[in-house]
Amino acid sequence: MKTIDDLNFKNKKALIRVDFNVPLDASYNILDDTRIRAAKPTIDKILNDGGSCILMSHLGRPKVKEDDFSLKHLVPFLSVVFEQEVEFSSDCVGTEAEEKVRNLKPGRILLLENLRFHKEETAGDSDFAKALAQLGDCYVNDAFGTAHRAHASTAIIADFFPNAKFAGYLLASEVEHVKKVLEDNVKPVTAIIGGAKVSSKITIIENILDKIDHLIIGGGMAFTFIKAQGGKIGDSLVEDDKQELALQILKMAEEKNVKVHLPIDSIVADKFSDDAQTAIQNIDSIDSGWMGLDVGPKTNELFEQVIGNSKTILWNGPVGVFEMEKFSNGTKSLGKAVAKATDNGAFSLVGGGDSVAAVKQFGLAEKVSYVSTGGGAMLEMLEGKTLPGIAALA
Ligand code: AMP
Repeated sequence: MKTIDDLNFKNKKALIRVDFNVPLDASYNILDDTRIRAAKPTIDKILNDGGSCILMSHLGRPKVKEDDFSLKHLVPFLSVVFEQEVEFSSDCVGTEAEEKVRNLKPGRILLLENLRFHKEETAGDSDFAKALAQLGDCYVNDAFGTAHRAHASTAIIADFFPNAKFAGYLLASEVEHVKKVLEDNVKPVTAIIGGAKVSSKITIIENILDKIDHLIIGGGMAFTFIKAQGGKIGDSLVEDDKQELALQILKMAEEKNVKVHLPIDSIVADKFSDDAQTAIQNIDSIDSGWMGLDVGPKTNELFEQVIGNSKTILWNGPVGVFEMEKFSNGTKSLGKAVAKATDNGAFSLVGGGDSVAAVKQFGLAEKVSYVSTGGGAMLEMLEGKTLPGIAALA
């Protein structure tokens, strides 16, 4: 896979797939600009080389051409971030886009309207990809967040640039960081897998068991393991049909010399609410009428110790209902332990959905080595799948 470092973009019109699918409030203020800032190094490199940037992205899931989903709302913010008046085309293909591209000078940026205003985008339509491809001299994919989709702009379009397709810095670095955790890793390697359900994490666990030394399991999914081993879990979340699978995972881990660390105690609640009554109970003797919504103090200590001895850490999924203050302590302590280990020289990657939200909520995003920008895409990479957007660049 070639990256943008393999080309000098002087006088090139680079067609760049970015992921500017950012959350907006009712007045179109950007609530989280992480994805825009994450694409900046790629755009800056191309502009500094003396090239121009034609940016294409989707925003939300429009059914028709709805104003709420127009990328024009991002133009004022982009103009501030890139310190120039960013131009805008009210359609991503057709005469207006072609005209604006023709007049685009080196050093300038043109943003195209939401790709998903054309249903051909998500359908992976080849003619639509060709119409987009005509706009650029070369193709850059920096949209890691949609790299797991075989859409026209993320994968199909690459066919029209057999010798001029490149990974942007963000996409390349996401791939690099997963490699650093799962392939070129320094031992001991610890994976922390939390979240609600075993069923949504099973493929990740199966894929990483060969590559890790320690597996910390937390969150709602831990209770399926505890129950399968004969523990009493009260009214905690459980997937009864996954108990057998949980036992198989434990057996597989043992065969592969992976030490599994399950919670030993739990913060239990009498209802799923921030104003619930709470108590601390051993993880395998939770009374009925109570549900485990966070890990307890002994577990925090155990997890901190394991993390403190690790040189490589992968974290996917919270170990409790961190969205509620009362049940956020376990995930917070775990985040702090990962930050501390990182400070002591470990490499840490936080990726895939809710653990990213958690590190941001607790102000720890700057204290871990890398926070992935792609939820679903990162999950699929950890599952060992080949992402269409990445395969298309090969
Ligand atoms: P996932 O999307 O599978 O990573 O799951 C994340 C969700 O799991 C978060 O919304 C947490 O609130 C939830 N979660 C974590 N621990 C528990 C628990 N003990 N019981 C119920 N839900 C939990």
